[in-house]
Amino acid sequence: MEQLMISFVVPSYNEAGNVEKVMDAIAKEMQHQQAGFEVLFIDDGSSDGTMDEIRHVLHSYSEAGYVSFTRNFGKEAAILAGLQHAKGQAVIVMDADLQHPPSLIPELLKGFEEGYDQVVAKRNRNGESKMRTFLSKSYYKFVNNAIDVRLSDGEGDFRLLSRKAVDSLLLLSESNRFSKGLYAWIGLEQKTISYENIVRQHGETKWSFGKLLNYAVDGIVSFNTKPLRLCFYIGLFTLSSALIYIVATFVSIFLNGIDVPGYFTTISSVLFLGGIQLVSLGIIGEYVGRIYNETKKRPHYLIGQASVEMKGKQDQHA
Ligand code: UDP
Ligand code: MG
Repeated sequence: MEQLMISFVVPSYNEAGNVEKVMDAIAKEMQHQQAGFEVLFIDDGSSDGTMDEIRHVLHSYSEAGYVSFTRNFGKEAAILAGLQHAKGQAVIVMDADLQHPPSLIPELLKGFEEGYDQVVAKRNRNGESKMRTFLSKSYYKFVNNAIDVRLSDGEGDFRLLSRKAVDSLLLLSESNRFSKGLYAWIGLEQKTISYENIVRQHGETKWSFGKLLNYAVDGIVSFNTKPLRLCFYIGLFTLSSALIYIVATFVSIFLNGIDVPGYFTTISSVLFLGGIQLVSLGIIGEYVGRIYNETKKRPHYLIGQASVEMKGKQDQHA
């Protein structure tokens, strides 16, 4: 029988000081496991010593491999590259900063042995700023009302995916990848395990407020066209109100004659309608922009150097 092989995918952007630690931690956990393993570091165009550290790790561990991008393509692209290069029957996606505790690996593997296609490690938000927790919680409430697939707070990329789940994810070829939604979209049976949030020890988070906001918008528009319909409804509502107002004013003119001082009504309707139009245009623009991006069919990333080959030589568009 072929030996079970587990692939670890570690997206790494400016993670010097962390790479070796993650590798040591994974190797330590895997010592006690029957399965073989490989650890793929995806260097997402790091500008610090991350790549040197990865090369160093490759010297000490035959299980380590890497794919290095020509520039920073983002975590989603890094994960995609990892999934495309992973050879294992199961893949564990894990951050480089040790915020995804390697001590959970045995539990993830146990879920896989039990037959689950996705085993998700869900974190709580201890130690995170109150504001971020509040905003995230409200966001998930809102998004789950507005969107067709369910997203769950605290369930991120730290998860085990069976080969079936990986192959399913690779079938989704959109250029604008919103992983959280994709994991939910493929369906498949999922097991959730919980862990305590850990505060980052080395380096810093790559998420600025602006990036988080963009991510939030992605989450909404990547998965449905409901906002477009909302624009339509708002338009319909404003149009009917305007019609009622026009008829009422018309009747009033007939009954009472022309009422000159109409400054307030004019300015308020102009501002109100202008606002709605701009918001609607913005929403439509989001979708048009996405269509534009999809039609270009650009690869998700470009590889500068790599120590591993892509599994089954799928093309980079996949
Ligand atoms: N990351 C990446 N490319 C990027 C940004 C981040 O590969 O453009 C990696 C990063 O190295 C880390 C993981 O994604 O392993 C999560 O990033 P970070 O810790 O900054 O996010 P947070 O934990 O604050 O959500
Ligand atoms: Mg982190």
